[in-house]
Amino acid sequence: MASKKPYSFSASVNHMVDRAFKVLDIDPGVANDIKACSAVLQVKFPVNIKGKIEVFTGWRATHSTHRLPSKGGIRYAPIVDQDEVEALAALMTYKCAIVDVPFGGSKGGLLIDPRNYTRDELQLITRRFTRELVRKGFLSPATNVPAPDVGTGEREMAWIMDTYKHLHPEDIDYQGCVTGKPVHHGGIRGRTEATGRGVVYALREFFRHPADMKSAGLSGGLEDKRIVIQGLGNVGYHAAKLLQEEDKALIIAIIERDGALVNDAGFSIEHVRQYMNEHDGCIKGFPDAVYSENGNKALEMTCDILIPAAMESVITADNAEKIKTRLICEAANGPVTFEADEILNKRGITILPDAYANAGGVTVSYFEWIRNLSHIRFGRMERRYDEIRGRHVISAIESLTGREVPDWLEAEIVRGADELDLVRSGLDDTMRLAYQQISEAKNSNKKIRDFRTAAYVLAVSKISRSYQVIGVY
Ligand code: NAD
Repeated sequence: MASKKPYSFSASVNHMVDRAFKVLDIDPGVANDIKACSAVLQVKFPVNIKGKIEVFTGWRATHSTHRLPSKGGIRYAPIVDQDEVEALAALMTYKCAIVDVPFGGSKGGLLIDPRNYTRDELQLITRRFTRELVRKGFLSPATNVPAPDVGTGEREMAWIMDTYKHLHPEDIDYQGCVTGKPVHHGGIRGRTEATGRGVVYALREFFRHPADMKSAGLSGGLEDKRIVIQGLGNVGYHAAKLLQEEDKALIIAIIERDGALVNDAGFSIEHVRQYMNEHDGCIKGFPDAVYSENGNKALEMTCDILIPAAMESVITADNAEKIKTRLICEAANGPVTFEADEILNKRGITILPDAYANAGGVTVSYFEWIRNLSHIRFGRMERRYDEIRGRHVISAIESLTGREVPDWLEAEIVRGADELDLVRSGLDDTMRLAYQQISEAKNSNKKIRDFRTAAYVLAVSKISRSYQVIGVY
């Protein structure tokens, strides 16, 4: 018998959200409105590459505009299409609502393998793509603000900002047209690491909730937990590095494009990353590890936590029965398909969903956008003032007690917070509060069995409230 055709990425997201609509008593018209992608732009544009005209195809989907600007990354990938961009834009809508970031949802994609182009060629292509987006009303600080995603980083964001600035020199807020920029071009400290760090903050909060841990079949803390991670790119690298270095977790397998590395004693993430930098992004040949070409097989290894941090649809109906972990933390967008999600839920495997787990990126993008609109670095006004107050507190303690405060404690009390401290604090607070709301929603309603439905219930309640109050015009 022929197996059922799997749902497309956007259908998969919609089916997952439908479970939340079933729990909530929401007007079906409003539900359809929330799910609908409000606009999609497709552009085809020529660029002269090595004397030949190449035509590139790109998309920008605006899923929702109940809050403006709409926000979401731009990916450069050899496989991307309109459905994928729409699905990712929808995820952005729910993600922003879950972590209380006041943005609508959007996403962009350019069909390209960036590894086949030089830096100068990528700059030409990016600037041309940006012009298309700006001219067609799909990019500005007020309406639609991209960020990095797969295949793009702060370099591309700087080119996008510079192109927008040339087209709109009168816009005093031009730096806010894109986030994830280099710090010396209006970026914010801590943005590059933000998604990976947010994943870790999510996991730390999970391990502060004994009832949630118990229902996942886990106990203790992150220390010595055995972790398998897929993708050691921006998100995966920062998440794995923090988990290994700060939480003392064991990263026992790393899955990359060219295969998987396994080491039962755990990897030094920095060493693997260095090796990848020196070997064209490949992990094959890394010493002191067992290498296998079939990377996907390593997703099925026995472990405590599985972190897919590479791409969508890696856990499907085909391998969901074989997954042997207690907890999946979705650092990537859409790594588990709807069909796989149903199977994993039935098998009692806990999933921290993408729309929550990887929301650290958009959270810090929000901080960056505010910094751009306010034209001042966080902490600039109060840091030294806080230091002076700290010194007064030390003097008061010492004169009242007649004892000296130890140097290390004095340094801690006196030190004023800089931008990175504030960003990390805001990110940690955001991830903790959102987790607490999701966990509370899940544990207080018998109709909700999983974290994904709980997260979507939370998102959809917030969005529908906003839709209903404003109405339709
Ligand atoms: P990236 O391009 O920096 O890293 C992706 C990594 O995955 C690379 O190391 C790549 O070699 C690896 N990879 C690609 N195909 C693979 C495969 N088939 N098997 C194993 N590894 C493979 O991208 P990123 O920014 O780290 O994004 C990763 C995921 O996280 C995506 O789903 C993205 O949408 C999501 N995400 C990213 C951000 C962000 O701030 N960058 C924010 C939210 C969500």
